[in-house]
Amino acid sequence: MTTMTRSQDARALRYKHRNHLHGHSTLPRLRRCGLFGVGSHVGLRLGGTAARPIAGVSGVETCGSVWSCPVCSSRISAHRNTELNKVNTAWRERGGNILFATFTMRHTSGDSLAELWDGLSAAWRRLVSGKGYQNLKEQYGIEGYVRVVEVTHGDNGWHVHTHVALYLAANVSDFDLGQLQQRLYARWVSGLEKDGFTASQAHGVDVIRTYEGSGLGAYMTKFALTHESLIHEMTNGQNKSARKTNRAPFRILADLTENSTPTDIALWETWETTSRGRRMMTWSVGMRELANLSRELTDEEIVALDQLNGTTIVSVPSKQWASLMRRGLAADALTVLENFGPCSTIDYLTHHGVDVTIHVNPLTFSLVDNERATA
Ligand SMILES: [Zn+2]
Repeated sequence: MTTMTRSQDARALRYKHRNHLHGHSTLPRLRRCGLFGVGSHVGLRLGGTAARPIAGVSGVETCGSVWSCPVCSSRISAHRNTELNKVNTAWRERGGNILFATFTMRHTSGDSLAELWDGLSAAWRRLVSGKGYQNLKEQYGIEGYVRVVEVTHGDNGWHVHTHVALYLAANVSDFDLGQLQQRLYARWVSGLEKDGFTASQAHGVDVIRTYEGSGLGAYMTKFALTHESLIHEMTNGQNKSARKTNRAPFRILADLTENSTPTDIALWETWETTSRGRRMMTWSVGMRELANLSRELTDEEIVALDQLNGTTIVSVPSKQWASLMRRGLAADALTVLENFGPCSTIDYLTHHGVDVTIHVNPLTFSLVDNERATA
């Protein structure tokens, strides 16, 4: 086939890993995500621009699992990344300052993921409640925050931590930055201790400055980029043992797809069942309004919205789409549509035994006039 771009490679990998979960996930909706049509037909869409076409699927069931579904997670994170970048730009335009803080907790391989996660969430709630936090806000001009949770697994078990973008009214001196870090640390530890956890003095809380164009939004939502980084690891031949020491959940899924060890099967099952229903990103009250963002969409809504991007080029019977998915050809079909356009896609689908309904004139269709996509 043709040369694929890194984002096409990453999509192919996401589809492959989701395919694995179709047969093995504990989440009923994930087992059906992207596989079954909502109606009798599934559409193949083309959006983006002539220079960077983006193909997608419409009319399929989706799961909206931000933590466990490689495909839905990528869409949700891309949407959130765009929103965060808007907030950050708006904030800097009005002369504000953004600090980036990381909060970690001590853990051992004996700690359960659920207990660690609950402990982390409770400690954060305690940190931002009460008179002590009001004082901190006033003293340092903290006007709001956006917080994301991140989890990895390594030799010491599950590692749950949280990244927080702190939005300050103005710049702070190095001295104040140090003081703020110490005071956040004191509140963080006292919050953790109520549930029997603690944090290292050296690494419990880390606060750094951020700069315009530093990719803060992308860093905060880097969960989405995991499949891009997996491609990077694979093409750069990073050795397997090094990778094994501290793995993001989608790294565990990648390993699981290649070689299902009992350990990884158990880890992934714990991951799916424990992460389900938990929030990945939290906005402090009023933060979205400051950047003129509309109501926050749910994970499911973001995924549903994504199905409306672009123009439907062809549609195929839902049963045949499921068969293409099971044969691992669906991501291929999207790449053909992006790289070669409607005629080649019709050939490709027909060649694989699919009955194609054509929705545009395949000879004259051009993306220049069809830039409705936002992805
Ligand atoms: Zn999904």
